[in-house]
Amino acid sequence: MAYEAVIGLECHIQLRTRTKMFCDCPAEFGAAPNANVCPVCLGLPGALPVANRAAIESTLRLGLALGCEVRAESVFARKNYFYPDMPKNYQITQYDQPLCEGGALPVRIDEVERTFELIRIHIEEDTGKSFHPEKYGDRRISRIDFNRAGVPLLEMVTQPVFRRPPECAAFLTALRRLVRWLEISDGDMEKGHLRCDANVSIRPAGSRELGTKAEIKNLNSIKGVEKGISAEIVRQTALLESGGRVEQATLLYDADHDKLAVMRSKEHAHDYRYFPEPDLPLLRVEAAWKEQMRAQVPELPWALEARFVEKYGLKPYDAGVLSQDRALAGYFEQVVAGLNPKAASNWVTTEALGRMNARGWSLAEWSARVSAASLNELVRRVESKELTGPLAKQALDAMAEEGVDAQVVLARPEYQVRGGADELLPLVKAVIDEHPGPVSQYRSGKTVTLGFLVGQVMKKSGGQAVPQVVKELLERELVGG
Ligand SMILES: [Zn+2]
Repeated sequence: MAYEAVIGLECHIQLRTRTKMFCDCPAEFGAAPNANVCPVCLGLPGALPVANRAAIESTLRLGLALGCEVRAESVFARKNYFYPDMPKNYQITQYDQPLCEGGALPVRIDEVERTFELIRIHIEEDTGKSFHPEKYGDRRISRIDFNRAGVPLLEMVTQPVFRRPPECAAFLTALRRLVRWLEISDGDMEKGHLRCDANVSIRPAGSRELGTKAEIKNLNSIKGVEKGISAEIVRQTALLESGGRVEQATLLYDADHDKLAVMRSKEHAHDYRYFPEPDLPLLRVEAAWKEQMRAQVPELPWALEARFVEKYGLKPYDAGVLSQDRALAGYFEQVVAGLNPKAASNWVTTEALGRMNARGWSLAEWSARVSAASLNELVRRVESKELTGPLAKQALDAMAEEGVDAQVVLARPEYQVRGGADELLPLVKAVIDEHPGPVSQYRSGKTVTLGFLVGQVMKKSGGQAVPQVVKELLERELVGG
């Protein structure tokens, strides 16, 4: 029997705020263990939480970008459970009245525009972290760092809209781009800024009923999400095909060994004894506040991608590369001014990004050396034929290495174009002498060898010759000889 998978994602997004969700402790990373704690985030008796406005505003911008319904009144709730890294023995979260509901994330997969619907986005606080560091001696002793306890976290729950693991990977990639675009999170899965659990079930292809689902936790990279879900689909299919049945369970995925392990049988909502948080008021979002937040939502990546295709005539693939990052899109829009957009796109996506990747530079590091104005000048000179393509690429290397403007680099003698016949003719003659084979092939009618000979002259000129001039000189000499 053929089966199809039904997959829903629960994504946790750690917000990049200065302070924690309900107290003034710094929300930053990397401090000494338990340096960023206070009575509120340690859950000491009598301490009262106060909600972080910046975190709520980040959530509003995300919800509005995704077309969610924003509740005028939402409720913080206590989720009760015992966990060693959660000092209060409850987590403040939102339950039946979350801040944002509905909405959808547009994602382009294999050149097709899809939208994946959401159920909700709510605000909660993160837990602390247990660790077992050898440097403190006995590894059997657990140590707890509460720096992360109380850091603002969003939970985004999707509808069970995914059928194939690559769709989940594409969704997460698009979500990561969006949270960075809105500057609400660093979105780094490896660092835990973006975490993901997946609910997976399978059913006979064509069936409308849902099968029993298993939840996979600990998916901490986009590749891991795709592989973990694939492994679970294989496991459930084998179970059903051998006459067994899927038990509702929580599984842990071990990316290093590509293995799933059952962590616990699934708990239910009633196990958490949710109730409204008595120490916090209703969260009221008035229309004016919502509109103020809507005005702060920038042009969204999918809209910008569509505009790049329409306005500049770029291929959807190139528009996708340029809109992977808001700063990169901005860089391109400065480079493209007054130029052929396809050429400008090529210089940014191939030449600039290629050099950044090779050197491991961020866009900020790159543009500190090669400003958009400087790259614009370089490409402009190629378009006006003051510069050849090979020379321009060498010049770009020099600009990147030295951090010097295009105008300064291009004034150097080695970047001057050599277009005069008197300069190039000796090179053309030398190439004809050195390559009698291709020359006689050309003369006997195999004119394709001309390209090779042009290349040889270009090489001799150090890339400074204009290919069209070389070609004309060669044709004249080859016919004449
Ligand atoms: Zn605190």
